[in-house]
Amino acid sequence: MEYRKMGKTGLKTSIIGLGCEHLDGGKPYAQIKETVDAALEGGVNIFDMFMPGKEIREAVAKALGDRRKDVIIQGHIGSTDVKQQYDISRDLPTAQRYFEELLRIFGGHIELGMMFFIDSDKDYEDVFETGFADYVQRLKKQGDIGNIGFSSHNPKTAVKAINTGLPEMLMFSVNPAFDMLPVDEYTLEHLEKDFGKDMFKGIDPDRAALYALCDRKQIGITVMKTFGAGKLLSAEYSPFSEPLSVGQCVHYALSRPGVCSVLPGCKTAAEMRDVLKYLMLDEKEKDYSKVLSAARNDFRGKCLYCSHCQPCPANIDIAAVNKYLDVAMLNTREIPQSIKAQYGELPYKGDSCVKCGHCESRCPFGVPVMENMDRSSILS
Ligand code: SF4
Ligand code: SF4
Repeated sequence: MEYRKMGKTGLKTSIIGLGCEHLDGGKPYAQIKETVDAALEGGVNIFDMFMPGKEIREAVAKALGDRRKDVIIQGHIGSTDVKQQYDISRDLPTAQRYFEELLRIFGGHIELGMMFFIDSDKDYEDVFETGFADYVQRLKKQGDIGNIGFSSHNPKTAVKAINTGLPEMLMFSVNPAFDMLPVDEYTLEHLEKDFGKDMFKGIDPDRAALYALCDRKQIGITVMKTFGAGKLLSAEYSPFSEPLSVGQCVHYALSRPGVCSVLPGCKTAAEMRDVLKYLMLDEKEKDYSKVLSAARNDFRGKCLYCSHCQPCPANIDIAAVNKYLDVAMLNTREIPQSIKAQYGELPYKGDSCVKCGHCESRCPFGVPVMENMDRSSILS
């Protein structure tokens, strides 16, 4: 397993985690235990527990047993099932009741206390302009939660929430189909209906800006909807000319700036092991560029961090240089020290480029790599 720093939280998370949602719904305990065991055996150390039901919470805690102390729980504040189904509640006594039960079940401390589902302006107001956010801050002060996070599917609202300065990490829906939908489309609606193959016009600039902002402010991102509810893996429903593989979807999400972990919703040990096979894939098997380049290609010139341009004879990690450059270009007058430091750690930087042009001939997206290597001097 590979582990990444989760932004400013001080935590290190496995690049593949487990979203426990699909273990809910009356699955036998043996199945839950086998899935949790498969995750732990594969080195997974982060589990999303957004489900409000007592039974599933207790089953996952029991399956973890003593190993609870070795893992990071992402627990959601405001996730309830008052009407016997998944629901969002901003009513403080209700949210408190559900979260305190989660705390009790997982030993009195939750590493990531997530403000649940902040998508609309109304969600934002209900969290940040009421006593809700104060409650979350109190939880942190009391040591009940280690870090404050939030979940969202909307890049504009997510940016607004991050700019309050309160969240330290974010759970966001990331996959190439969501990233390339037009700005005014609400991603979750496309899990219910078709993606619409003619909609894909390039990376949504709001989503690209969110990832860059997260990298800049050291807000680690955990990923949900990695496979677009399975649609990206299906020949019938994929918006691209061919389906992506599990490994390609995982790799796409992990190559966005700021992302530290993907949390697929595996419901069996076999599914968990299947996702963990990502760790054994070679670069060719992870490469998603061919599938995406067959979609409408209005995003020419914008790096997708796919690394299809490698190898570079000067040993430059071209995707990494482009990624840091994109973050820096958000505001060239104030480039965060953290980004400069990360760039500084690259063994070969943009100034090592010998202008052979091999990368540009291999890049399916027409990125002006050599120009970017020159521009990366702003990071030194
Ligand atoms: S042009 Fe520069 S970055 Fe591209 S492959 Fe050649 S040396 Fe590497
Ligand atoms: S320059 Fe092109 S091939 Fe290289 S990482 Fe970026 S998009 Fe991929």
